Amino acid sequence: MFLKRIDLIGFKSFADKTTLEFSPGLTAVVGPNGSGKSNVADAIRWVLGEQSAKSLRGNRMEDVIFAGSETRRAVNFCEVSLTLDNEDGHLPVSYKEVNITRRVYRSGESEYLLNRQPCRLKDILELFMDSGLGRESYSIIGQGRIEEMLSTHPEDRRGPFEDAAGIVKFKHRRKEAERKLGETDANLTRIDDIIAELE
Ligand code: ATP
Repeated sequence: MFLKRIDLIGFKSFADKTTLEFSPGLTAVVGPNGSGKSNVADAIRWVLGEQSAKSLRGNRMEDVIFAGSETRRAVNFCEVSLTLDNEDGHLPVSYKEVNITRRVYRSGESEYLLNRQPCRLKDILELFMDSGLGRESYSIIGQGRIEEMLSTHPEDRRGPFEDAAGIVKFKHRRKEAERKLGETDANLTRIDDIIAELE
């Protein structure tokens, strides 16, 4: 799997539609201070489902939408698409090329698309779990992340290692199963109560 392309529209400093194409191997993005290099990394984390405005260096989620400049008016929505080559089947879907899109409007409406079909955030998160490219994974190490990892609680530091070991998916499924068992337990108690009332 490798990242082939990023399309940005109205995301942070990228007011106009901007396309970045990548080839296998090493790519360096260089540019003057404040030219938008970190915004590219933010865009990748955002489209992968990042929900924390703070970790995208903003205060509110709508801070990711181009807010205008001296010469340009602000825009009302932003969209980021990632195109990944999946020839090696690293992502557990049958597509040879995977395209994910996230779009958000100032009104707060938002949507996710998987190969141009609307999907849920949950679908995106599950698709990238244990792929090394998930929201919390080790593929994107932002500025200050190393210090944060070294100073943080050992339990939190474990996340990227679990992602690398491929067990995040199973932990997530266990949590879901425990939640459903809890619901079933509550339903059984309710049924017992009803039966006792009828007897
Ligand atoms: P450095 O080398 O200093 O780390 P950088 O190239 O990584 O810089 P970024 O931090 O990616 O730069 O980009 C910062 C620029 O993005 C700033 O000029 C900021 O005004 C602009 N920016 C961020 N959010 C928005 C937004 N919502 N609308 C318009 N511009 C934005």
